[in-house]
Amino acid sequence: MGITRLPAHLNHIAWNRKIINVFWVIVFVSVCVEVINSFFTERPLKEFYLEYVLLPTLLLSLAAFIAEWGYRKQGKYIDYIIIGVANLISGILVGVHSEMYVMYACLFFPMLISTIYFDKKKIWISFGLSLMIYLGLSAFHPIVKELNDVMAQLSMACILLTSTTICIGIMSRGYEIGQHLIKAQAEHQELMVKSTIMEKQVKTDALTGLYNHMAFYEYMDVLLFQADTYHYPLHLAVIDIDNFKKVNDTYGHGIGDIVLKRIASAIKENVTTDDFVARYGGEEFVVILNDVDEDKAFKILENIKAVVQGLEHPEILEDSVTISAGLQTYRTGMHKQAFFEGADNSLYVAKRQGKNRVIIQECSEALQI
Ligand code: GH3
Ligand code: MG
Ligand code: MG
Repeated sequence: MGITRLPAHLNHIAWNRKIINVFWVIVFVSVCVEVINSFFTERPLKEFYLEYVLLPTLLLSLAAFIAEWGYRKQGKYIDYIIIGVANLISGILVGVHSEMYVMYACLFFPMLISTIYFDKKKIWISFGLSLMIYLGLSAFHPIVKELNDVMAQLSMACILLTSTTICIGIMSRGYEIGQHLIKAQAEHQELMVKSTIMEKQVKTDALTGLYNHMAFYEYMDVLLFQADTYHYPLHLAVIDIDNFKKVNDTYGHGIGDIVLKRIASAIKENVTTDDFVARYGGEEFVVILNDVDEDKAFKILENIKAVVQGLEHPEILEDSVTISAGLQTYRTGMHKQAFFEGADNSLYVAKRQGKNRVIIQECSEALQI
């Protein structure tokens, strides 16, 4: 199988606690059963209590205390201490009730308990200890010795071995499922990352790295809803590069692309992270300004216009490439189409008035719903 253990789990400590609690339950049940038995025994009560109540309770409690001590110390051998104590307990139970064949089933407890650790080595150690305890009792305990001849001992060894193999099988199957889950989780995470990247790609304009037309409308829907709900000011600017066709016609589309990218970066760099910039299409951009008044919005656009005008384009001979912008303030309840057309009409006015300027809601009144 190759795999012998699972990586250490955070809840390892919690499982050891549960196992030790089971030890205490065994002590308690053992006392209760023997007290009930005392009502039916024909043996002298004092002798019965000594042999079947006091002695096993003391021994079992001692074993449970050893486990408790190991648990408090939390050393690296705690699992082995617990496996050892489980074997001790099963040995005590078999030793005290040696005449009851059914009690020999207790010898399987330690192996079952060690399966919880998902560690082949611990299961084998448990098997070894169980076998040693059984053979030890068969050699030195008078009743166990009498009841278990060589054939019985051989059979018990075979049954213990078979059970160990089954425990290891269960552990390996559990490990397989665990690995499968880990793999599925890793694949899921990878898919999430890929889908996030793809989502970003779908919303990004490849040339400028800005958001694209689709992202703009998605974002605008959200913003208009928020502006209607929380009543904070919202402005939309539509920006268009002036005479860009001439740049393309004179220097080619490659140079045009460089100029376009440079202007896109300048626009992006001159708004805050609260604002939204997208390439609407061709050489047109949209900017949504959040939470600024009309005056401030106008100033931001004027600044962008000045920065773009001041950009140097070593690839072309012209001193500067300019932009025109139309700005529109959002009014509560305004349709998004009216909001956009308000800005677009102002842009049209800016172009008509000679370009390289910002115009604010020139024709918006007629467009309001
Ligand atoms: P106006 O001042 O009136 O806006 O004039 P204009 O020349 O900018 O306007 P027009 O709409 O006639 O031309 C826009 C040009 O933008 C046409 C097109 O070749 C160019 N363009 C659009 N998208 C791109 C692009 O991705 N790269 C390049 N290099 N050019 C583009
Ligand atoms: Mg245009
Ligand atoms: Mg243009």
